[in-house]
Amino acid sequence: MRLRLAAALLCIASPALAATEAAGSLDGVTLIDRLDVADIAAGTTQRFWFRAGRSPIGQPWLVPVVVVKGAQPGPRLLLTAGIHGDELNGIAVLHRLANGIDPAKLAGTLTLVPGLNPPGLMQSTRQWTPDWSRSAPNLNREMPGKEGGSAIADFAGRLWSRLIRPNADTAVDLHTQSRGTAYMMYAFASTPRTRRMAELVAPDIIKMDKGDKGTVENTLTDDGVPAITLELGRPEMFDDVMIARGEAGLMNLMRELKMLPGKVTPPPASLTVANDIVAARATRPGWMRLLLPLGSPIKKDQPLAEVRDAFGTLVETVLAPQAGRINMITTDPRIAASDTIARIVWWSPDPACQNGC
Ligand SMILES: [Zn+2]
Repeated sequence: MRLRLAAALLCIASPALAATEAAGSLDGVTLIDRLDVADIAAGTTQRFWFRAGRSPIGQPWLVPVVVVKGAQPGPRLLLTAGIHGDELNGIAVLHRLANGIDPAKLAGTLTLVPGLNPPGLMQSTRQWTPDWSRSAPNLNREMPGKEGGSAIADFAGRLWSRLIRPNADTAVDLHTQSRGTAYMMYAFASTPRTRRMAELVAPDIIKMDKGDKGTVENTLTDDGVPAITLELGRPEMFDDVMIARGEAGLMNLMRELKMLPGKVTPPPASLTVANDIVAARATRPGWMRLLLPLGSPIKKDQPLAEVRDAFGTLVETVLAPQAGRINMITTDPRIAASDTIARIVWWSPDPACQNGC
């Protein structure tokens, strides 16, 4: 009875909230247990703390959400970042969009989630750390999750069913490479539509890719919501060039979706589209130095890196296993035997590989 009264009072206090479940406020920001952007007043920007269940010490997991609700109706674009806690550039991109997109000039709804993995972000780790029953819990392999399941499944399930899936017609999940490695600006796509989305965001390289089970990108696309993963360079930093490119690319996608006015910029001529990838590995441990920069074209058997022992003696020259373009490098020179030192992408003409080998 008391609960029902509280619910009724909440409805009176927040008449705009229907399917959205409000649960109080924190420093003036509304706490929600569920979001339906249909409840947000047109022509406004609103900020929320989404409560994604509770941690083992009883405190809520709080995920920041910004909804920019256009004055005009239109599609719902969902942008997420920080599902891996050492991958930060996307968070800055979403902050810039939250402050830069004028809801009066927007058609449709932009939902921004700048920090999907609070425990990982706090510890600057790719993992979602508190699930001690698993060695390396990767939140981006857990979608759609399961409310009431294991700690990570419950967290993923709440994100998926109460925040992500109900508010997305189109989505982009922003990442970078992990600690000790670097990407260019690089997008993953899996269908003709998502390839087109990736082209409009104007990365250096697009990889057509069947994807991994449980990612935000692939779980959405499989459920009928076209989604891409966008990689913005290096981890553990705010890189102004990557952030500006990410913001510009996403605004171009929003023009194609007719959410923003203006002309759509075609993809750059320098864009590489690949559908296959191979890792170049050292066979000896030691100190590795790359001989070519990230993004270089490379021929098969071209020297790619040197490995030296503790005294500086050359012990191995690693050759490119395949012709293509270097899309990822290891930036930490300390390597173990069989560590990946770079990855090379290329286009396979096999018709079966059109959307990824
Ligand atoms: Zn990532």
